[in-house]
Formats: sequence, C-alpha cells, structure tokens
Amino acid sequence: MEPEYRKQPKGFATKAIHVGQDPEQWNSYCVIPPIVTSTTFKQNGPAEHRGFEYARSGNPTRNVLEKCLASLDNAKHGLCFSSGLGATTCILSMFNSGDHIAVSDDVYGGTNRLMRQVTSRLNLEPTFFDPTNLEELKSSIRPNTKMVWIETPTNPLLKVVDIKAVSDYVHNYKPEIVVVVDNTFLTSYFQRPLEWGADMVVYSLTKYMNGHSDVVMGAAVTNDDNLHTRLRFLQNATGIVPSPFDCYLVNRGLKTLALRMEQHQKNSVDVAKWLEKHPLIEKVIHPGLPSHPQYELTRRQCYGHSGIMSFYLVGDLQKSKKFLQSLKLFTLAESLGGYESLAELPCVMTHASVPAEDRKILGISDTLLRLSVGLEEAEDLIADLDQALKSIS
Ligand SMILES: *Cc1c(COP(=O)(O)O)cnc(C)c1O
Repeated sequence: MEPEYRKQPKGFATKAIHVGQDPEQWNSYCVIPPIVTSTTFKQNGPAEHRGFEYARSGNPTRNVLEKCLASLDNAKHGLCFSSGLGATTCILSMFNSGDHIAVSDDVYGGTNRLMRQVTSRLNLEPTFFDPTNLEELKSSIRPNTKMVWIETPTNPLLKVVDIKAVSDYVHNYKPEIVVVVDNTFLTSYFQRPLEWGADMVVYSLTKYMNGHSDVVMGAAVTNDDNLHTRLRFLQNATGIVPSPFDCYLVNRGLKTLALRMEQHQKNSVDVAKWLEKHPLIEKVIHPGLPSHPQYELTRRQCYGHSGIMSFYLVGDLQKSKKFLQSLKLFTLAESLGGYESLAELPCVMTHASVPAEDRKILGISDTLLRLSVGLEEAEDLIADLDQALKSIS
C-alpha cells in the first residue's frame, strides 16, 4: 500500500479565517480588520497607553496578522518583518560575536548570501552542512554553536530534511541550541516544524502565505516565551517591520491559504506526472511522487506538497533557454508561490550567485528548470509545456 501523508487535523481553514479577527476589538465592530495607518496612539496619561504607543513597536493591523499566523502553526507567538530576509536578519541579531551557527548547504540564495557575506563579517561564523547527512550535522556542531538553520524541502533540488532527526540530535547535544526551519516552500498548511521539535519557524510570506505576488514580507513563529521576548525586542529595536497596508494584504491572503495549497498540490502533481512520461525530460523532482528519493519521509513529515517542482531537460543550456522563452502561460520569472505559474532556470537566475563548483556538487546544471505551478487549469498548463517542448524537439 502507498504511504499516506499525515492527516490534516480539522480546523485549519477556520483558524485562518477567524483567529485574531474578532470584530469586537474595534469600536466600529468592523468584520474585516482595518488598515490602521496612524504612527502614534493617544495615551490616557503619560506612559499609560491602551496597548499601542508607536507604530514600529506595535500596530493593530500587524497584530491581527501576527495572531493569525501563530495559530496556523499552533504556536503561541508570531512576529512579522519587512521581508523574509528581514526576519532572518532579526533572528541573527539575537547572537553575539564569536557565536557559531550551522546552516544547511542548500538554503535559499539570499539566506546563503546574508550568512556568507554579512554575518560572517560580524564574526558570527556560519558553517554549512548537508542536512540529509546526520554525520555532517554532528561534525559541524561546536561548543559555541547557538543556532542550526535548515530549510525543507530545499531549493531548487527539493531534498527533504528530517526535521525530527535534526531537532532531536541538536537538542540532545545541547537543549539551548535554537533549531530554526525555513518553511516557505510548504507553508503551515503542509508542514508544521514545531510539531517535530523545531524551536522556531521562519517564512517568506512573500510566497505562498500571501500567495498573490504583491507583497514582500516575512515572519517568525515560536512556542518559546524567551525566544519570543528576545525577538520581539529586536523587531522594535532593529525596526525591520512591515507596513500596515502589506499586513492587511497578507492577512487577506491567508483566508484562502488552505484552498490555494490544495489546488497548487493537485496541479503540480498533474504536471509532474505528465512530465515524467515525456521523452525530452530526463528526470522530474517532486516530493509527492514515488520516484522522489525521500518519498516516504515526505509522507511521514508533511500534510502534502505545494506547487514547487524541478526537472532536468534532455539537452543543453540553449535548449533550456529556448524552452523557457517558448512558454506562454508560465511566466519566465524568479520567485514562487503566487496564483500564477512561473518557470525559471536556477543556474543563471535564482542560483547564479552560488559558486559554479558548488552548483555542480548540488546538481544545479544548465538543464535544471524550476516550476512554481499556479492555480490555472492543469490541462492548460500541460498544453503550454507540451508546445514549448515541441519547440525544442
Ligand atoms: C524568498 C525566500 C526567502 C526570502 O524572503 P524575502 O521575502 O524575499 O526576503 C527565504 N527563504 C525562502 C525559501 C524563500 O523562497
């Protein structure tokens, strides 16, 4: 019998629609949270405020979103930042010069750049390990390690990391080491890393969580009061906060997260299965297909898979380029997670900053393409891929 995904407990969509949104918190009883643009709030007496004083330290629209986000991971606390990398920067600023952080080797390009080119200058020395190899993780942990950072599935090769195995090993070694999981690719709908022992989950809300490709924002959620207090202080102290208007949009996007993710999953499985049979496709990488090397781990750890998938074309760089330029429905563009389908060539686009040597080791070749399968009709998407493949055959 085929292994099943984890069974989604009831209530996710209800939380996405109701948590934090109570109309009675507003004088007008408005059902839809307002965009509160005021930068300052009247006080009853000096230093006697009603929960808000200055909009960097707290904003009612942001509050609504932070509560809703936390609930989706069954977390106690949520915080929003002006981008996914803004959230990462804030988390990194919890540590001190001389601390060590261990980072998985196949992380988002911007995370890699931030760790290698910025935090390393602050003497917060990151080292990189293959997260699918526990022995490498073990040898990368040191007495001064303060954080272990993983991303799963990885980008663009969709390697799946065993969150429980990593968290258990790290916390057995030393409970204080913070295990952070970047959950951007699957969202809280398809994967909830806190359930597996991670201490904190980070999102680029820019992608699926907002889902409409019109906001750049990030978030971090946790159950740990102490971590939350430190990060909440830093959110205000560093000032990496999002605008009320953007918070309104992401809060709106969350209302359809469950519906969207189900459809992204259906469409990407249809597209992947079709591509697997095509003679011009060398290999398809989709964690929801039995051909994926970590198919069973994926089923055990996740509630499903999103619209992200990759594949290798038979051909060369020229063919890859011609194929991408022949697509009509898939837009040739970076990013992912919106309702519209996107296609890209990681070796010269999202992963161009990864050194050629590393790209080779990781498998990011000239014929590796990444798709963000959107919410169009799957048949139309397949027809588009078909005509683009015909153009290179
Ligand atoms: C896009 C992305 C980020 C960075 O988020 P921004 O909102 O662009 O700053 C981090 N991690 C992953 C996996 C991403 O896809």
